[in-house]
Amino acid sequence: MSDEKVSMRPDDFESLGINTDSVMVPVYLGQNDKFKFNCHPGISCFNECCKNIDIVLTPYDVVRLKNNLGISSTEFIANFANFYEVDGHGLPGLNLKTKEDMKACEFLTAEGCAVYVDRPTACRYYALGNLAVHKKDSGVAETGYFVVQEDHCKGHFEDKEQTVAEYRHDQGLQEYDEMNLGFQELVLKKKSSGPTVGAPSARSMQLYFMAAYDMDRFREFIKSDGFKDVFDLPADEFEKIFSNEKALLKFSTRFLKQVLFGENTIAQKEDAADVRMQKRKQRMAKKQKELNDEAAGKDSN
Ligand code: SF4
Ligand code: SF4
Repeated sequence: MSDEKVSMRPDDFESLGINTDSVMVPVYLGQNDKFKFNCHPGISCFNECCKNIDIVLTPYDVVRLKNNLGISSTEFIANFANFYEVDGHGLPGLNLKTKEDMKACEFLTAEGCAVYVDRPTACRYYALGNLAVHKKDSGVAETGYFVVQEDHCKGHFEDKEQTVAEYRHDQGLQEYDEMNLGFQELVLKKKSSGPTVGAPSARSMQLYFMAAYDMDRFREFIKSDGFKDVFDLPADEFEKIFSNEKALLKFSTRFLKQVLFGENTIAQKEDAADVRMQKRKQRMAKKQKELNDEAAGKDSN
């Protein structure tokens, strides 16, 4: 992309929640394009970017942070995240909870970020942003990068120049981008399908939320009879998913694409519908018996 810079529209920035007044360089950069920026503990603005924040969390961010803190994904979500609606149609997302004062990040200390080695994707990218770009005369989407220059950030005046590729490498972003990719595709697809897929039921959004963000509960879910009655996973794949959180996360995206969009990559049992029907009948019969027993007990009193 370095041979063809693409100007961005104000809408592109606003859709990312970036104040266009503070963005000085509305030009896409490719991997080999250079920009000047350096951030270090001695800089006068140290920690300023961790105040007044709105940090969106990806599922992989949640996994890394909850492991850093030694807690479950359920505990992390309850204590360190807020819900927000991603698409205006009930799709849930998470962002990082802040302290009351100045909306500072919960993990901010005088020495810097308390979870630095596992900081979220958005923190790693700053002061770069990224967007999918469709080049002229090509329907192929590429990732384009741009510099986000906000008034409080003095890192842009430091005498260090690097390429986008070097910056991404230094920030450990290859791994994060790889782990975020499937989820980003899922959200984009859900957003573009909008209400045409129908308003999601509360139950389907609970399932989505669990599979996307609450990995420890999702792991328990795929061990359950409810999952095993329907899906036919080979034993070695089960083993891999249970022993490796990255594999579990990638599997959760496949699961959601199958449940939401019918992209069938997980084999289903041929008798799944019969088994579910049978179990539903058993549950209803049990419920009816309980009601009958209750009514009989009242009559005898
Ligand atoms: S997670 Fe760390 S780097 Fe990100 S906003 Fe919080 S303190 Fe700053
Ligand atoms: S240079 Fe920018 S990114 Fe670094 S601490 Fe200052 S405000 Fe934050």
